[in-house]
Amino acid sequence: MRETIDALRDELAEWRRDFHQHPELAFEEERTSNLVSERLESFGLDVTRGLAKTGVVATLKVGDSDRAIGLRADMDALPIHEQNTFDHCSRHSGKMHACGHDGHTTMLLGAAKALSQSRDFNGTVHFIFQPGEEMGAGGEVMVKDGLFERFPVERVFGMHNLPGMGVGDFALCSGPMMAAADIIDMEVKSPGGHAAMPHTTDDPTVAAAQILLGFQMIASRNVDPLESAVVSITTMHGGDAFNVIPDHVRMGGCVRTFEPKVQDLVEQRMREIGQNIAAAHRVDFELDYQRNYPATVNHEAETHMAAESAAKVGSSRTDFTPIMGSEDFSFMLRERPGAFIFSGNGSSAALHTPLYDFDDEALPVGVAYWVQLVQDQLPA
Ligand SMILES: [Zn+2]
Ligand SMILES: [Zn+2]
Repeated sequence: MRETIDALRDELAEWRRDFHQHPELAFEEERTSNLVSERLESFGLDVTRGLAKTGVVATLKVGDSDRAIGLRADMDALPIHEQNTFDHCSRHSGKMHACGHDGHTTMLLGAAKALSQSRDFNGTVHFIFQPGEEMGAGGEVMVKDGLFERFPVERVFGMHNLPGMGVGDFALCSGPMMAAADIIDMEVKSPGGHAAMPHTTDDPTVAAAQILLGFQMIASRNVDPLESAVVSITTMHGGDAFNVIPDHVRMGGCVRTFEPKVQDLVEQRMREIGQNIAAAHRVDFELDYQRNYPATVNHEAETHMAAESAAKVGSSRTDFTPIMGSEDFSFMLRERPGAFIFSGNGSSAALHTPLYDFDDEALPVGVAYWVQLVQDQLPA
């Protein structure tokens, strides 16, 4: 199998660089989806299109076993203007594969090709290529479009590259590994008035400033010190003139947590603090609290299965320290047991930055992991 994967090395880099040159945003992955489907068909897989608009599921069945697993990659890019200058940099201004989904798509394609040639397992593999991971929760849309009813699997696995970790190194942990990401939008309202006569109105700016400071208390005073929460207010807009007390101030931001009970507590405290500070200032407070991506929670048995397969192709550890980033593979892990694993991307620039690039050396490593996982899960 090693030789099969090594023989794919140049082709994998070619595919990856081509995807990198043609980044497409959430649910617009038409070219990517077409290429993915054409290649999967050329490997002889049964290809189903149209889940979550641009999603693709390809099925490879070998032998007589009824068992099935799912492997998932994401295909979308980010609205970032690439600053790299190499030949394969983005040709679509303002769009960039800055999260390495070009590499993820390529690795899963490579695994489909290698397994369609070797056919050394017994069962069914559903290769899941989802759109819109960065925004729009493509993973959730795939699930709602009947992913697991149409393609039943015992377990589902996902993989993401991670800069700062060596190529060939894998890491994950059991339980919450990435955070739930909630989006908050708030408005503080009053009648507004003349800035020279503040006593004739109520000032939403001062109230908003105190509410923002009040929120700093949630993580430090309300959340159990052994639990984790981030409350970040990242936008604050109000007023257009130096001599007018505005009639509203708008604030927005995000909340990250691992545990639903902490998430509930943060939302409850935001409402209490916002409403009560607003009442003290005689202004109105409205909070729109949207639960966006849930926490990515790895199942214990599958965590160890993934780590064991990874250890056969590189080094792997199960003591990864959870991070506050989020990931919509979480929606699939809520439906089926499974595990999400990080694969080292060497010393590349950080994810979501304009100088990031997926490391082509990591492509055959990722393919080898997927292949090993299939062989271990569905032994011939
Ligand atoms: Zn990302
Ligand atoms: Zn990503």
